[in-house]
Amino acid sequence: MLNLTDIQVAQNEIYLDNNATTPVLPAAAQAAIHTMNLCYGNPSSSHMTGIKAKYILESTRSLARQVLGADTGNIIFTSGATEGIQTSIISALNAVRDKAKQVENPILLYGATEHKAVPETLKHWNLMLGIEADVVAIPVDSNGLLDRQFIANHAPQALMICTMIANNETGVIQDLSELEKVIRTHNPDILWMVDCVQGLGKVDLLLSTTSIDYAPFSGHKLYGPKGIGLLYVREGAPYTPFIAGGGQESGLRSGTENLPGIAALNAIFKLLVDKNDDTFKSHEVLVAYRQQLAETLKQAFPAIVFNHDFNYSLPTTLNFSVKGLSSKDIMDLFDAAKIRVSAGSACSSKVTGSFVLDAMGKPTWQSEGAIRMSFGPATTQEEIDQACDAILNAVRALRNSCLLLSDSNEEIDSKVDGLQQWVYDNQCTWCYVDKATKEVVLIDPVAALSEKFTTFVQCQNYRVKAIINTHTHLHQADSDCAAMLREIVSNNMATLEVDEHGWPQDLCEQVTLADGSLARAISVGDKQLVRVNTPGHTDNSIALLLVNGSASSINVDSVEYVFVGDTIQIGGIGRSDFINSDSAALYDSLQLLNNNVSDAALLCPAHDYTQFFTTTFAIEKTNNSLLADVCNEQISKADFVQAKAKLDAQIEVSQQSQYCGKIELNRATGFDVAPEELNQFLANHPEVTVVDVREPHEFAAFKQEYWQQQKLINVPLTQLTQFVQKNIRNQPQHGFICVCRSGSRSDAAAKTLKRMDFDNVYHVPGGFALIS
Ligand code: PLP
Repeated sequence: MLNLTDIQVAQNEIYLDNNATTPVLPAAAQAAIHTMNLCYGNPSSSHMTGIKAKYILESTRSLARQVLGADTGNIIFTSGATEGIQTSIISALNAVRDKAKQVENPILLYGATEHKAVPETLKHWNLMLGIEADVVAIPVDSNGLLDRQFIANHAPQALMICTMIANNETGVIQDLSELEKVIRTHNPDILWMVDCVQGLGKVDLLLSTTSIDYAPFSGHKLYGPKGIGLLYVREGAPYTPFIAGGGQESGLRSGTENLPGIAALNAIFKLLVDKNDDTFKSHEVLVAYRQQLAETLKQAFPAIVFNHDFNYSLPTTLNFSVKGLSSKDIMDLFDAAKIRVSAGSACSSKVTGSFVLDAMGKPTWQSEGAIRMSFGPATTQEEIDQACDAILNAVRALRNSCLLLSDSNEEIDSKVDGLQQWVYDNQCTWCYVDKATKEVVLIDPVAALSEKFTTFVQCQNYRVKAIINTHTHLHQADSDCAAMLREIVSNNMATLEVDEHGWPQDLCEQVTLADGSLARAISVGDKQLVRVNTPGHTDNSIALLLVNGSASSINVDSVEYVFVGDTIQIGGIGRSDFINSDSAALYDSLQLLNNNVSDAALLCPAHDYTQFFTTTFAIEKTNNSLLADVCNEQISKADFVQAKAKLDAQIEVSQQSQYCGKIELNRATGFDVAPEELNQFLANHPEVTVVDVREPHEFAAFKQEYWQQQKLINVPLTQLTQFVQKNIRNQPQHGFICVCRSGSRSDAAAKTLKRMDFDNVYHVPGGFALIS
């Protein structure tokens, strides 16, 4: 295990994720350490050590009253905002239990863009306490502002209303005085919680002049440590302790107080109320910081769109999207360049949007591509200057990778040569580039990646030989992304005469396959792309064979890649139970493919549900006895049709997300090299090649500070299939150790290499984040 002291902040890190959590101010850290070392008493003890501790507790409460504008009401120390939210909601729901039975159709209202802690807590305690109210989201407009008419209409039947002061993703501020007017006009008694987490230190608060009943806060969003928070409760508002026990906090919240955390808040609040201290910047200064960052971002990404109106937002949050770039592209690039931001959506293989931006009615690409950049009220001008320089530097790497077009005439050499696999939501688009002739073919394009492709083509002025679908489904007939792309890049298309698949009729020649059958082929640089009909999954399914050389007779060993569409999956055979499927035809198609390509040719499917990137007949036949039986003619067509129907029937029940075929897989394990053992491992294995599997723009942006002695190569996951193809036959024996940012991509790469029978493959869990 790593020693904690070995985990360090990266040198020159630019931290722009303050809405997630802030760094701890040195004064706050010192106050906490001082309290742990010297003021360790229990505030409940009556001896002098306890009295000192009690003083810290009460003086912090009194400072909190000043900061929150809360002369009256209770201030309770909690573990954080989530606890404050629980306490508020339990207190309110407990108080309205009886009333709930008298109100017709009782509801609990919350803002549609609220932090998940709020609706989830409402639903949980609504159920636990048997309130049986409907939990209803208040819609927001395109600026993220709550629909006041909706509140007016629904407040009379509402038992509680939960809103927020400022949104954590967009910084959009709600006008509390307008909300108060509408809430109190339509229901003077409704219990009102305002999640004030993102407002602390950024918005002037005068809580006890309002009718807000509950206001939770969190220390770690304002330079305090994690695990300390505050809850304001209006004088007279119903209250039920969430934590019962020894009666601390006047019986409102039991448990010995987190005194070091409270001491840290003490230090922060002192700075906040000190008019002569400039740790916390004025609103004007923060607005100027935002302006500087926004201008820099516009320069870096000319196609940027800000997802919120700055006029309605905290100055410290910028949420933006860039057409053609996914939030993962930007996050990964920035992270490699040590700029920490967060993605509006989760960075998993399953693409999800931001529910906040969805609620604001933003288009899907904005929601899925959102990046949140947030600084804090104590950020300095120097930090903003550094951030702007780092952003401009990092973005250069995107231009060099052709993910972003340059607005100058600079010559860019993307260095891409060969096969790339772009994955969106488990769907694979395969893009083959011949660098020498600048010819490109695109296979099975996914609409969400179309911008990426058009930028790529324009960046290098490629000549697009073809954009081909291996098959289409009946329900997709009018959303042909390939046709749309051909139109967009029409100036770069070799021909526009194509059939329903996008196959260029007038560019093709006839070739003979290994089994003697005839097929059509087009040239792409010094290779040929051969089209074979493989009906089964759909009646119009085809496979495309990428063949080395230009011979008119195709030999099985010259087939390098087979774009199989959904005919073969990694770990399964494509489903054949659609209206336009035919499993008897699929049987023939599988045999046709098996007879015309070698066992080692790489099969490149249109889906990658398993993150194994590619496969071969050899591997599939070993793992899939049905496929092996078809290929070896050990099962009759009729029996195959029956067996296939059974398999397809299981997809509906157990694997709905694996829509195009039933997948069965075994995963390799046991090749981890722990980050703390890495240096020793490399010293013992100087012959091992380090494989950085991040994308070229990340590799370029990451100043490589490690392993001067070691062989280091960049094999981005988008090019892993090509790496396998080039090395599979005469694989170097010295081995590879895969590394990436967090250990997730390197794990996938290492598992793939293992599956493809590479020897001596390792990976580093935790990735560069934990390597020092
Ligand atoms: N509410 C908002 C608006 C937040 O941003 C967060 C944290 O991200 C929370 C609540 C939860 O806060 P805590 O982490 O203190 O429980």
